[in-house]
Amino acid sequence: MMSALPVVIAGAGPAGCLSALYLARQNIPVILLEKHQQLPVDLRASTFHPPSLEMLDSLGIAQAMIAQGLKVQRYQYRDRKNGDVAEFDMNLIADETQFPFRLQLEQYEMTRLAAKELQNYPCAQLLFGHEVVDFEQHQDSVSVKVQTSDGEKILNSCYLLGCDGASSKVRKVAGIGYEGFTYDEKFLVVSTPFPFEQVFDNLSYVNYISDPDEWCVLLRTEKIWRVLWPTDPAETNLDKYLTDDFIQARLQHLHAKAGDYQIGHRTLYNVHQRVAEHYVKGRVILAGDAAHINNPLGGMGMNGGLHDAFNLAEKLTAILKQGADAGALLAQYQRQRKDLAVQFVQQHTIQNKQLMETKDPQLQAKRQQWFMETAADPVKAKAFIMERAMFSSLRESLQQA
Ligand SMILES: Cc1cc2nc3c(=O)[nH]c(=O)nc-3n(C[C@H](O)[C@H](O)[C@H](O)COP(=O)(O)OP(=O)(O)OC[C@H]3O[C@@H](n4cnc5c(N)ncnc54)[C@H](O)[C@@H]3O)c2cc1C
Repeated sequence: MMSALPVVIAGAGPAGCLSALYLARQNIPVILLEKHQQLPVDLRASTFHPPSLEMLDSLGIAQAMIAQGLKVQRYQYRDRKNGDVAEFDMNLIADETQFPFRLQLEQYEMTRLAAKELQNYPCAQLLFGHEVVDFEQHQDSVSVKVQTSDGEKILNSCYLLGCDGASSKVRKVAGIGYEGFTYDEKFLVVSTPFPFEQVFDNLSYVNYISDPDEWCVLLRTEKIWRVLWPTDPAETNLDKYLTDDFIQARLQHLHAKAGDYQIGHRTLYNVHQRVAEHYVKGRVILAGDAAHINNPLGGMGMNGGLHDAFNLAEKLTAILKQGADAGALLAQYQRQRKDLAVQFVQQHTIQNKQLMETKDPQLQAKRQQWFMETAADPVKAKAFIMERAMFSSLRESLQQA
């Protein structure tokens, strides 16, 4: 039987927005709380994988995202030293999905569309300037303490979803550990409108470029090119990475040209590999970065968070509308999503980084050869694309009782 209390969601990032929209479409009362006065606009995720697009399509916003974004049908692993390019063509998975491409679109465009769509549902509220600061669990409810510009308020909810990102207050108040590690080095992300596609041969819009001296990721969003480089873990003067001189030198090293590059954004990110000890504690449930975080190589962070949110909202719908067994379904949510985060996402992203950064030329050559051989064999290439698109692991995890 439906609870009279709403589901309260902390955080209007991709995970919070998706779960709110799913529940609203089921006519389940939901309050989405965002601590900022508007949806955050930052340069983070820009790749939506096919399974995420399928989920977003079932919620009615994928077509608008596709209309705004850049469809990327092929992506490349490039060897900067010898010029070899291994190219994966996502048309190989056209028999598996109606979305055989990666959609390049800033994550804030997805949250904007979801927030706009939420306005069509009277059972949903999105409250800005509402920061979750504490909560208390009771037998059948959770009282959520929220800080607003008008002072503190208490909101009573049937479930509290912690979709409040890597530093999750919900996770901290719940006393749930966030096990793993933080890398010593940071990642520098810079954007520029310079048309790299006009100076590199056959450049795709998503490129992983290896080089024992300086690897990087070069990708295009719907608006701009973006370059990601690692920084030196031993460097103590982190400010230098954000200076014009440093960034111009890195861009000139990527492609030497006359005159300076026009630089858009520049951000230095910490890089973590962590998974929460539990995803569920009573009526408090974590999803997205609040539950797991990984390095961005491969674009699995936000996509994994969207998959959590979809899985969780589906289960909450069964619990709240059909009276399904909450304990059993939430335990299944934790098994399906946490196991996948630990066994697939963490392992793959750690491995991706190790391979990109190897200083050993032989290992580097072997890695590129493996990519070249895999890309050239349609059966192997399809399996690779299915894995990197997170389809294989997602399908496997859904088999888990
Ligand atoms: C450089 C970089 C590139 C990336 N590229 C990709 C990519 O291509 N593909 C990919 O899948 N992932 C990528 N990621 C990871 C991705 O950005 C995150 O996984 C994603 O943003 C997580 O979404 P989320 O909704 O869980 O949390 P967040 O996006 O962090 O959203 C959390 C929200 O909660 C709000 N909030 C926080 N605390 C509170 C509180 N107490 N009360 C109320 N609101 C609160 C915040 O303001 C925010 O709006 C990248 C990350 C980085 C750093």
